[in-house]
Amino acid sequence: MNLSDQLSLTAIDNLSKTAYVFNGEETNYQTLEGQVTKFASSLKDLGYKKGDHIALIVGNTPHFIIGMYGAMRLGLTVIPINPIYTADEIAYIINNGDVKGVITLDVLMEKFEKMEKLIPNVEHYIVGETSPAYDVNQSSLSEKAFSFAKLVQAGSLELDRPTLYDHDTAVILYTSGTTGKPKGAMLTHKNLYSNASDVAEYLQIGANDRVIAALPMFHVFCLTVALNAPLVNGATVLIVPKFSPDAVFEITKDFNATVFAGVPTMYNYLLQYPNKEMKDFSSIRLCISGGASMPVALLEKFEEQFNVRVSEGYGLSEASPVTCFNPLNRSRKAGSIGTSILNVENKVVDELGNEVSPNEVGELIVKGPNVMKGYYKMPEETTASIKDDWLYTGDMARKDEDGYFYIVDRKKDLVLVGGYNVYPREVEEVLYSHNSISEVAVIGVPDPNLGEVVIAFVVATDDSVTEEELMKLSKDKLAKYKVPKEIRFLDELPKNTTGKILRRSLKDQLASQQ
Ligand code: AMP
Repeated sequence: MNLSDQLSLTAIDNLSKTAYVFNGEETNYQTLEGQVTKFASSLKDLGYKKGDHIALIVGNTPHFIIGMYGAMRLGLTVIPINPIYTADEIAYIINNGDVKGVITLDVLMEKFEKMEKLIPNVEHYIVGETSPAYDVNQSSLSEKAFSFAKLVQAGSLELDRPTLYDHDTAVILYTSGTTGKPKGAMLTHKNLYSNASDVAEYLQIGANDRVIAALPMFHVFCLTVALNAPLVNGATVLIVPKFSPDAVFEITKDFNATVFAGVPTMYNYLLQYPNKEMKDFSSIRLCISGGASMPVALLEKFEEQFNVRVSEGYGLSEASPVTCFNPLNRSRKAGSIGTSILNVENKVVDELGNEVSPNEVGELIVKGPNVMKGYYKMPEETTASIKDDWLYTGDMARKDEDGYFYIVDRKKDLVLVGGYNVYPREVEEVLYSHNSISEVAVIGVPDPNLGEVVIAFVVATDDSVTEEELMKLSKDKLAKYKVPKEIRFLDELPKNTTGKILRRSLKDQLASQQ
């Protein structure tokens, strides 16, 4: 089975149900199914055929859903790209990914007009209109440019669908690796379909749910958890074009949202939101956190303030993404990413690949129908990360006696202080437990005596908090070598567009100051 065929089956059972809401307007499953088929048929008329690659460079708008499902229906491989990437970053992915066409938005066309020479092989720009005044004919790329709306309108509902096989590549997700060029994780139809269905079953996402899609759609967390899982189960996707607490609380109220999915920084913003009247999550039955570790103090404060359960899970692009979640039918453990979801195996291993004992720390490895086919055109990197069907995640973890996993940290973020291992997360959790601290990032910096020492960056919600106070808290709770040598106060921490805190850029900033 694949997402595109499943959407057609789901639509038959839910014709008049709302599939997605955008700018207050509801679109039902019958209309969505028609939009997808018509878009696919127009792509076919433009000369696209099974196996061609198409880039999807749009924000959180219906173009993403129609574009992705439409392209998949014709058997194309979709390459979602972050729209705020620079011209060079986008060009690298388009060229490396052998992209034939680009689906984008009017507001982004200026960027493509300027970078035309960097991507000479792109044959078509399919431009989604966010403003009725936009006209593709005015573009300097007009010979290659087509109106998204007109293609949907002109398409036919009679489409000769190609057979989609489990192992066909459905999407390629370029991971934003901190070193080297991004790598394209090839996810098959089976990968995407299995993860969307297994997550939905594990978290009981069904036709009565209204799921908020406020994470960026190009990121795999949103793609599987907030788009595919709801759409193949007849639920409603509530599209938030750009995350803000106002937008989330408003859509929750207007459409009685039942599920919210976010990264920890989003939970922090929701918690800090000052407008008490709007701050209502009473219709929400489940909050899902992932993408980065959820500080225990934040999770507990959030659950208490909103009276809602927060279930933390874990995933990575290469696993479509979800491997673990705190189960609904057992207790949720704060600080844990939960247990293996259906059909997926997780294991903690030592350097030799042997499973370690409960509570011992090792690398987390994953096996299941969700594990990618490999990196596009990178056989060596593929062999290095998938061994005997096990995907090596690069994350250090432990498993407790009840089968719950805990992410200790990224393998590469480990700090070595005088030969001792310090995982930044452990130090961050202690600082997060202070009531006036809303964000923390801990990094290792070179030290002539100890090799490395720990430095912490914090964001305080209250001016009166001092470094001495935080030092005392750290000394009370941590072994001496883990205590930060210095604690610096910042107005905010650097984050990527998904909201993950970037320890790497703090390291670079420090290095450039020295
Ligand atoms: P991406 O491929 O962009 O989705 O990033 C995947 C990475 O995010 C993982 O390898 C982890 O390092 C991190 N990650 C995702 N979920 C969690 C979590 N719940 N706790 C800690 N790290 C996480």
